[in-house]
Amino acid sequence: MPELPEVETIRRDLTPRLVGRTVARAWVAPDAPKLVQGRTAASFRRALAGRRIESLDRRGKYLLLRLDGPDGQAGLTWIVHLRMTGGLIHRLPGSGDDDRFLRARFVLDDGSELRYVDLRKLGMMWLVEDEEAVVGKLGPEPLGEGFTPEALRLALSRRAAPVKSVLLDQAAVAGIGNIYADEALFEARVRPTKRADRLSRKAVERLHWAVRKVLVEALGDRGSSFRDYVDAEGEQGMHQLRVKVFRRTGEPCYVCGSKVRRVKVGGRSTHYCPKCQR
Ligand SMILES: [Zn+2]
Repeated sequence: MPELPEVETIRRDLTPRLVGRTVARAWVAPDAPKLVQGRTAASFRRALAGRRIESLDRRGKYLLLRLDGPDGQAGLTWIVHLRMTGGLIHRLPGSGDDDRFLRARFVLDDGSELRYVDLRKLGMMWLVEDEEAVVGKLGPEPLGEGFTPEALRLALSRRAAPVKSVLLDQAAVAGIGNIYADEALFEARVRPTKRADRLSRKAVERLHWAVRKVLVEALGDRGSSFRDYVDAEGEQGMHQLRVKVFRRTGEPCYVCGSKVRRVKVGGRSTHYCPKCQR
């Protein structure tokens, strides 16, 4: 599933390709009824046509494309959430028409196309004047200034849930999913099932450092491709080759040699080292 490093990689790749371009026309597959949120697919297509893309931003796992407001109209934000298996691929003119699971297509004024692909059709798009309605409740960006050890300590201290569940809560901290929650907890030597409000101050400080470390390393590897994730050119990331515990059940811990264990936490598969993580 695309998490912060994957969405940020797509944002960085798409920015030079899309900024300044105008959406000439849009097409949404009739078999993807949940893709467009808050308005009909027809209204979405009409409102996008003729808009120029001013900038690309990201909040958590959401990609935000800011669009101009022509002829006195208000600017709009086109928000995309890739969920489980969504992807945004930019194709130059003449690059063929063979992207699998194509659910939407956006033809730009230079003839290139932004294509939205999604095997499971869980991804969503919005086109809104007020983006706060979609992303307003997200917690701090883990690589931003608002994510301090104290902010993390406060978020954890309010919850009796397992610490992993709090890391996955987008209102506590934005952009972390199953892969990087497991990896950060391993780096911090904190057991995922430990009650959030019982972490020591030292453990919270280690976890704060570890969250940033794993996200920065994954960004350097252009994300992780365990199954479907591809970047804006349709290429896989590399970080799946460097994970320490995620999906390594039964394999030896790189630090102590104990077998990596898998348990369910809040319904999510969770991987940890029983000796290193207490
Ligand atoms: Zn270990």
